[in-house]
Amino acid sequence: MPPWMEVIEAREETQMNQVTEALTIAMADWVSMAVQQLDQERMDLFNRCVATEGADIRVVVCLREGAVLLEATNMVAGTRFELFREDVEPLRPADYVGHRGEGGRQSDIALRIKEVDMRYINSIPRKLPEGRVLVHNRVRPARPLGTGGFRAWTQIKDDTIEPCRCNFAGHPNAKLHKHYKVKLDV
Ligand SMILES: [Zn+2]
Repeated sequence: MPPWMEVIEAREETQMNQVTEALTIAMADWVSMAVQQLDQERMDLFNRCVATEGADIRVVVCLREGAVLLEATNMVAGTRFELFREDVEPLRPADYVGHRGEGGRQSDIALRIKEVDMRYINSIPRKLPEGRVLVHNRVRPARPLGTGGFRAWTQIKDDTIEPCRCNFAGHPNAKLHKHYKVKLDV
């Protein structure tokens, strides 16, 4: 078994789940921003893909190349079309090993989630636990939570969030709390 597999196995399953959840949410945010930058032709292709049997939209992260891609694929026709590309810093081999707390992006993200103790919510409580604040992601607010990728959670306040003045899509109990959203460059 390669060393990085052992590291992943050694992680608590809940932490793994939280990182996967955070990745899914980040991906939904990324897709909604990428889609806004598509020209009409690519937008049509995107929409066709969503509605066509055997077709799909994929977010592909090329770790060594250093790119995040939005792809339209059709398994039946065996086609793949790149809709959008954003170049990112390539990961170094050391990042995969990612010993906890010793640098490497993977462990940075996991560590931050653990530090602020993010807990996702399915509805907004009347009272928040002591020392915690209400936060939502940057997806357009919608009801119920989860719609279109709009997610909310409670966490310990840190500098990755900023006050938000939206009406939280009119969610029950939203007006009872001052709330925050994730800063754009986090
Ligand atoms: Zn808001």
